[in-house]
Amino acid sequence: MKAIVVGRLGPPDVMEVREIPVPQPGEGEIRIEVEAVGINFADVLAVAGEYLTRTRVPYTPGMEFAGIVESLGEGVSNVQVGQRVACLGGSGALAKYAVAKAAAVIPVPGNFTGAQAAAFPVSYFTAYHGLKTLGRAQEGEWVLVQAAAGALGTASVQLAKAMGLNVIAMASTEEKLQLARDLGADVTLLQDDPDRVQKVRDAAGGKGVPLILEVVGGRRFQESLDMAAGQGRIIVIGNASREEAHLRPVELMKRNLTVTGLWLVSLMNDREATMSAAQALTTLVASGKVTPQVGPTYALNESVRAFQDLLDRKTTGKVVIEP
Ligand code: NDP
Repeated sequence: MKAIVVGRLGPPDVMEVREIPVPQPGEGEIRIEVEAVGINFADVLAVAGEYLTRTRVPYTPGMEFAGIVESLGEGVSNVQVGQRVACLGGSGALAKYAVAKAAAVIPVPGNFTGAQAAAFPVSYFTAYHGLKTLGRAQEGEWVLVQAAAGALGTASVQLAKAMGLNVIAMASTEEKLQLARDLGADVTLLQDDPDRVQKVRDAAGGKGVPLILEVVGGRRFQESLDMAAGQGRIIVIGNASREEAHLRPVELMKRNLTVTGLWLVSLMNDREATMSAAQALTTLVASGKVTPQVGPTYALNESVRAFQDLLDRKTTGKVVIEP
């Protein structure tokens, strides 16, 4: 079968299309005919060897995907052949077929397309945990969402609005801000607006923002501290700038700020948090308030371009590859 193979770590163009054997499902596993793969910033970092976990080569990227169950390994009874499922974790989805643990599949709402199902798990679980599990957002509060037109950003804006929060959305272009407004953002601001710190503080009633979803990092992290209200919570979710950030603990002390890290991979091991996020997200999806924003869609042999476009900030919503 055709698959993307990374033989050495580096920029997106180290990825090649190669013929590799079709994977066999082992005990407790299923084989899925892949319909769509959600591409995350984490995939770009993993190919570059800059992710939180070590990338072993050669490997086939693709950690978040949806498709049709095609065959079952020994002992699988919770899914059926022909069922559409979404999967999260591991790698190997940028291929015609991928294998996943049957116990870890995520059922797909009947009204989702394959691309929407592939765009859902990472962004919506992360946004939920950022806003609620760790962010402890209260109805009526203000939240600042950075990179608001991206995959995580659009999920965060939608969920925040559905939870009754007031949203300040930041992004790098007017087109991206328009998307954030279309999704319900109350105030939008260009990421490079020279008066952004004061404007964010003013928008949130003059005292700063009580909750910030921080995904850019580097020197922007200091700005997030400046934008935060006293006793504000800053949830560190990403470092898209790939720059170092510096933190002076005394500054947190002075203004009673809380900085909390969030990594979805380790939170998924917290069964209680995962179940409660899944339950809340299922209700929101059923209410029609939440629809995954599928961004540009690419074929398997366009994977290098898909990764490069994500890295170059050219995309909105979730980048999807259909193998
Ligand atoms: P996005 O679709 O949001 O794309 C990345 C966006 O980051 C860009 O579109 C761009 O938006 C913004 N950005 C800001 N500065 C830079 C920069 N210097 N270079 C490139 N992009 C920049 O991707 P994801 O939704 O996959 O991820 C968003 C962030 O959230 C990433 O930092 C990612 O690592 C993190 N994340 C973390 C998770 C976790 O478990 N901790 C889970 C999911 C995502 P703009 O042009 O508007 O600035």
